[in-house]
Amino acid sequence: LAGREFKPEDTVIQIGDIKIGGEEIQVIAGPCAVENRDQLLETAYKVKECGATLLRGGAFKPRTSPYSFQGLGEEGLKLLAEAREKTGLAIVTEVMDPETIPLVAEYADVLQVGARNMQNFFLLKALGKIRKPVLLKRGPSATVQEWILAAEYIMSEGNYDVILCERGIRTFETATRNTLDLSSVPLVKQMSHLPVVVDPSHGTGKRQLVAPMARAAVAAGADGLLVEVHPNPSEALSDGPQSLTPEDFGQMMEQLTGVARVL
Ligand code: PEP
Ligand code: MN
Repeated sequence: LAGREFKPEDTVIQIGDIKIGGEEIQVIAGPCAVENRDQLLETAYKVKECGATLLRGGAFKPRTSPYSFQGLGEEGLKLLAEAREKTGLAIVTEVMDPETIPLVAEYADVLQVGARNMQNFFLLKALGKIRKPVLLKRGPSATVQEWILAAEYIMSEGNYDVILCERGIRTFETATRNTLDLSSVPLVKQMSHLPVVVDPSHGTGKRQLVAPMARAAVAAGADGLLVEVHPNPSEALSDGPQSLTPEDFGQMMEQLTGVARVL
């Protein structure tokens, strides 16, 4: 179902009046985690002003350590819904297990599957039964074929609205958090009709690399970007080192207008 042979034309996913896939690029921006009302609303207003159309923010956080901040849960979802109401931005947030899907789907416009859950087949199948788009991150050690087959799990249950997200893979390189595999963008777009967005934040782990890789992603044909933005990155409860300030984000957005996206 995910293959170009099955469906030659690009899939365009409609979220309100936003289209993911096709002509335009959409930018999903926001903090790694929803931390509090002020942090989220300030970020939401600022990214909207700079041209983002979707707001991201984790309410359920898959943290490497069980002692790290795990997210605000439903309170975080409510804050995201409030931010949508105030700004008009659509909401993207992670769901970590099948049991929590109904709760997350009540608030979110797009449900994110985190990299660590890319092959959680029960979660994928359950997301195949809902009627909201799913943003499927590439697993840190997944091949492109495995990633597309993970999308197939969702689609095989009836949900065809899958957005693929390249967020870097684990290699021998330790100077960056992950190795952002931009060759996967044109490769996946040849193999599949599904839209592909790129996450240069998790893909590099370093703030100063985010804008250059965002530009490269657009040049490579990405349908959108997912970028972490925090009003005060040094105080962030997660992923501060890779988070842009709203000012950095504005600059990145300006630079993107000069990038040719040849499809
Ligand atoms: C995130 O988007 O904050 C996140 C946890 O991403 P990933 O699953 O790609 O690590
Ligand atoms: Mn993060």
